[in-house]
Amino acid sequence: MTAYDVIVAGAGNAALAASVSARMNGANRVLVLEKAPEELRGGNTHYSGGLLRIAFSEVDEILRLVPKARELPGFVEGVEAYPRDLFWSDLRRMTSGRTDPELGEILISNSFATACWMADQGIRFEPAISLGAVRVGNVIKWPKGAIVRAANEGVGLSRMWFATAQRHGVEIRYETAAARLRQDTRGRVIGVVVRDPAGVHELDARAVVLGCGGFEANAAWRAQYLGRPWDHAKVRGTSYNQGDGLRMALEIGAMPAGNWSGCHATPIHAEAPPFGDRKLTDKTNRLSYPYGLMINRLGQRFVDEGEDQAFFTYAKFGGIILNQPGGVAYQIFDAKARELLEPRYSTSDPFAANTLPELVRQLDCDHETALRTIADYNAAAGHGEFNPGDRDGMATRGLALPKSNWARKLDTAPFLAWPVTGGITFSFGGLKINEHAQAIGTDWRPIEGLYVCGEMVGGLFHNNYPGGSGLMSGAVFGRIAGANAARG
Ligand SMILES: Cc1cc2nc3c(=O)[nH]c(=O)nc-3n(C[C@H](O)[C@H](O)[C@H](O)COP(=O)(O)OP(=O)(O)OC[C@H]3O[C@@H](n4cnc5c(N)ncnc54)[C@H](O)[C@@H]3O)c2cc1C
Repeated sequence: MTAYDVIVAGAGNAALAASVSARMNGANRVLVLEKAPEELRGGNTHYSGGLLRIAFSEVDEILRLVPKARELPGFVEGVEAYPRDLFWSDLRRMTSGRTDPELGEILISNSFATACWMADQGIRFEPAISLGAVRVGNVIKWPKGAIVRAANEGVGLSRMWFATAQRHGVEIRYETAAARLRQDTRGRVIGVVVRDPAGVHELDARAVVLGCGGFEANAAWRAQYLGRPWDHAKVRGTSYNQGDGLRMALEIGAMPAGNWSGCHATPIHAEAPPFGDRKLTDKTNRLSYPYGLMINRLGQRFVDEGEDQAFFTYAKFGGIILNQPGGVAYQIFDAKARELLEPRYSTSDPFAANTLPELVRQLDCDHETALRTIADYNAAAGHGEFNPGDRDGMATRGLALPKSNWARKLDTAPFLAWPVTGGITFSFGGLKINEHAQAIGTDWRPIEGLYVCGEMVGGLFHNNYPGGSGLMSGAVFGRIAGANAARG
C-alpha cells in the first residue's frame, strides 16, 4: 500500500490551494482525489466568476495583482480602498452578526496576502469588469472589495490551479472518490477508503484534507436541511458536490457548524439547466435587478430590489425567488436600464414590448395585479438623483415594500422582462474547525490528522454572503489546511 504525506479530497480552489501549500510546507507525497472524471474536474470553482473579495488599503495593492489595469481608462480613478474594517462590517451585516469571529478574522486578515501568494504560484488575475462594475463618465465604479477576478474567470482559475499543482509535483487521481476516513485506535485519521472504477481501496496518509464541497448537488440533503422547495432547485455548479466530505467527517465524530438550513442561491435564468453548464458557467446569473423591478406570478413585488448593491443581496434573493409561487419571478426593466445590465443578460432573450401592458400580457402572471404593482411603483418612484455606481438613496415614497435605491420610474420603451428562478450555489452548513483548519470533534477536541477547507468550513456564512468571499475563503483556509497537514 502506498503511503502519502497528505491526501486532499477534492480538486476545486480550496483543495488545490491546500495541495500546493502542503508541498511548499514540506510534504513530499501529496495526492489529490477528484471524484469527477478529468473532463468534468474542478468542482464549483470551474463554474465560478473567479471573483475574489480582498481587503486592501490603496490602489497600488490591487495593481500588484492586476498590473496591466493601470492602463485601463478609468480604472485607477474608480478604485476605492476596502479596508479590513469595511470587509468586517460587510461580513457582519450580511450574516446578521452571526459569522464566526475567529474565522472571519482569519479570512479578512489573510485575504490580500493569500491573493498575493496565489499570484506568486502562477494564478493570474484581471479586473472583474463585467461583474458589477459600471462606467460613470470616465470612471469605472466598482462594488467595494470586488474588483479582482482570476484571469478567464473560474475556468481559468481551475485550469491555472491544476497546472500549478502539477508543477509542484502533486499527484492527481480522477474518478476517485474519497468514500470513508480511516482512523487508528487513538482516533487519528490515517488515510481514506476510495472508490474508483476498479473498485474500493485503502490509502495511507499522515494527514487528510477535506476540500470536497458542500451538499448543494444532493436533492435529499437539500430537502432534509434546507426544506421545501429546495429539493427542486436548479444547481448552478457541479453535480459532484453531494456532501460526501461532510458525511465522512460526521461519521467519525466531527462537529457540524454554521448555517445548515441556509445556502447561497442567486437569481438565474428560469430555463437554466438542472446542473451547471461547463460552457455557460455563471452566465445564467441575472443580477442587475437593482435597476429594475421584480414581480412574482401573483403580479406582486416581494423584495426591496434596491436594498443594496447586487453583490450584497444576490446570494439571498435566489432563495426568496425560489420560494415564490412556481419558483419563478420576472425582472422588468425599461430602456434606461439597458446599458446598465450585466453582459450575461445576453445569454437569453427577454420578453420585449413598447408598452407595459403589452409586456405584462406575455408574462405568466396575474396581469391586472402586475400592472397595478408597476403603476404604484411608478407613482412612488423618481425622487432624487440616480447614481448606478453607489447606493444613491433614490427611494420610493409611500410604498409598503419600498425600493430603497435606484428607484427610477419604468417609463421608457422598449420594456424588457427576463424570467428568473433561484439556483443554488453552495450550502452554508459545514464543519467546526480551529485556526489551523483542523476539524473539531463533537467532544470539542481536534481530530488529529484531519483538516477542512472551502465550502466545507462551517460558520462563516449565514443566510447571506458578500460576493467573492467563497473563493477567497477557499484559498485562505486551503492554504492554512495544507500547511498544517504537511507539518502533521
Ligand atoms: C456559477 C457559480 C459562480 C460562482 N462565482 C463565484 C465568484 O465569482 N466568486 C466566489 O468567491 N465564489 C463564487 N462561487 C462560489 C465558489 O465557486 C465556491 O465557493 C468555491 O468554488 C468552492 O470551492 P471548493 O474548493 O470548496 O469546492 P469546489 O470548487 O466545488 O470543489 C469541490 C471538489 O470536490 C470534489 N469532490 C466532491 N466529492 C468528492 C469526493 N467524495 N472525493 C473526491 N472529490 C470529491 C468535486 O468534484 C470538486 O472537485 C460561484 C459558484 C458557482 C456555482
